[in-house]
Amino acid sequence: MYVVTGRLTDLRRRLDKAERELADRAWHANFNGICNCREETDANPNRPQDFEAEVNTSCPAHGFRRLGKITHFTFFNRDGTAKPHPKLDPLIKSYYARLDQANREVTHDPHI
Ligand SMILES: [Zn+2]
Repeated sequence: MYVVTGRLTDLRRRLDKAERELADRAWHANFNGICNCREETDANPNRPQDFEAEVNTSCPAHGFRRLGKITHFTFFNRDGTAKPHPKLDPLIKSYYARLDQANREVTHDPHI
């Protein structure tokens, strides 16, 4: 009895994994070519307007456009504290707030 239960559990686990992989592939395949989400985005403190344009661009496939890993330079004061960037910091903070919201919506999407 234990052996049968173990096999069924293993089968269920492999089936769940296969289902997730298929759903993942279908998700990306559907949006292949029209998705403009990014793996990484540079937030240049000397050109905050470029990052602002990236943040304000939406994805034709997903709506909210994911910018991936955001890289940016931080300048430091002599005492070691980070110098705030009045234009870039709020943009990055705003992006992450919108990303959190988008992630919550994906989590609750019954189609995924
Ligand atoms: Zn996208």
